[in-house]
Amino acid sequence: MTDVLPLRATAIAQDGLFIGGRWTGATHDRVYATVNPADGTVITDVADGSAADIDAAVRAARRAFDEGPWPRMSGHERARILLAAADLIERDAEELARLDTADMGKPLAFTRIENGFFAPAIYRYYAGLASQMSGTTHDSVGSAFAYTLREPIGVIGAITPFNVPLLLATTKLAPALAAGNTIVHKPSETTPLSALKIARLLAEAGLPEGVLNVVTGTGAAPGIALVAHPGVDKIAFTGSNLVGQEIIRASADTLKKVSVELGGKSANIIFADAYLDEAIDHAFNGIFYGSGQVCVAGSRLLVQRPVYDQVVETLARRAEATLPGDPLDPGTVIGPLAHQLQFEKVSSYVRIGLDEGAELVTGGQPHHPQGSDSGWYYRPTIFKGRNDMRIAQEEIFGPVITVIPFDTDEEAVALANGTKFGLASAVHTRDIKRAHSIAAAMRAGTCWINTYAQWDPGISFGGRKASGYGRELGPEVMHSYSETKSVWVDLPVGPDAALGGDLSL
Ligand code: NAD
Repeated sequence: MTDVLPLRATAIAQDGLFIGGRWTGATHDRVYATVNPADGTVITDVADGSAADIDAAVRAARRAFDEGPWPRMSGHERARILLAAADLIERDAEELARLDTADMGKPLAFTRIENGFFAPAIYRYYAGLASQMSGTTHDSVGSAFAYTLREPIGVIGAITPFNVPLLLATTKLAPALAAGNTIVHKPSETTPLSALKIARLLAEAGLPEGVLNVVTGTGAAPGIALVAHPGVDKIAFTGSNLVGQEIIRASADTLKKVSVELGGKSANIIFADAYLDEAIDHAFNGIFYGSGQVCVAGSRLLVQRPVYDQVVETLARRAEATLPGDPLDPGTVIGPLAHQLQFEKVSSYVRIGLDEGAELVTGGQPHHPQGSDSGWYYRPTIFKGRNDMRIAQEEIFGPVITVIPFDTDEEAVALANGTKFGLASAVHTRDIKRAHSIAAAMRAGTCWINTYAQWDPGISFGGRKASGYGRELGPEVMHSYSETKSVWVDLPVGPDAALGGDLSL
């Protein structure tokens, strides 16, 4: 490895769970090891929180919501703290990038951008919206009128996945806090370190105690306890479809609000009239960023037949020239898979692809960077295949792309929409009319035209169909972390009222 492990990781993890503004060990002082997927070494031990720890965290968040200053502050005051948090995240961006790189294997080149640029930008964006939470006024019948108040929901249970640890927590924490809620965050068991560091930074920024609580832990138990807890008002979940469905079912018992951001099998369409170099660039980054462990990974590449062979060959040459390497090396663009299960899942889907007759163009095997005989590295893998194959229908969540030919616009749309998922899509063409009509026809939450995976805090993001419901980012997310209260006002009609009586219906 080119660098030492993040030195602060040990100190951060030894702090334990963050509950009610204090660091505390898990029940029975249980810990587990978080492992670096690049070489299999233990980074540090982390507190293994249980249902009892979740209960303590929810009670702290409940107290902070019911009695504490956070929901009662003006939006301007909340904004000041969120802006300070953004500055602190920027100050410690390098450490935050290294924590996520060590924990999940995403190259430092990318965690620096995610954690050092996007995360503070999101805090600043929602700081700007914190003071804009407002209701409406309505004329009504007679002397009465009504207005609405926009109020925070209460305690939010934020459950996040392993693949973009800090940023996907930020897309929940920043708007939820801006709206005045309190939070219990349960990060992925395999990538808990940046969440603990963020708790420390938000406290330093001035977040009152109990407003953000972080419970790390193994297995499903802490997440299940959070979803079942009657003290939680909403679950904001990002993760797999299976777990998302379990959460929706479980939430019925306590009638919680739920938003679920789930998996994808996004189609990236390249027409023969596209600028091919750019389109292939986007196709390459669209699937191999994060070793394909990205919900919007462009894992189905639909290519118009006249340029099909050219696109496949160029993409394959590029894949063969970009072998995975040490994620802490700033020049690396593909790191290891995040953990053993991911590695096994990818390997098994490659076997499935071969069994169902897809043509393996390149990759399809593990890789060991020079000088290393460990780590969950997998070569960028390209299949020629059909849309009805399992490798084109099921989320692999790895560096595996299936390239599928098409002839007409209608066929491209049918193929792109021909999965249960509906997270993202893209189209590459020089024909602007065609581009807009394809974008309109996509049954997906996002469509990129002549680009891929562009983000901005002000543009909403989320899925349709089996990719979930609810949105992240954008101004409308403030509505999913707040609710309206309607207030009716009438003039008091006393015995001497000049208007002569009660006019209400
Ligand atoms: P996962 O569903 O296995 O785990 C997500 C989180 O849920 C973790 O914190 C986990 O501990 C917790 N959890 C597990 N079982 C639970 C239960 N029964 N009740 C409550 N919580 C439980 O997902 P993962 O493997 O960490 O992440 C990969 C998945 O996330 C992929 O499917 C990917 O597409 C999806 N994802 C979606 C988006 C999006 O915005 N749509 C973004 C990133 C990742």
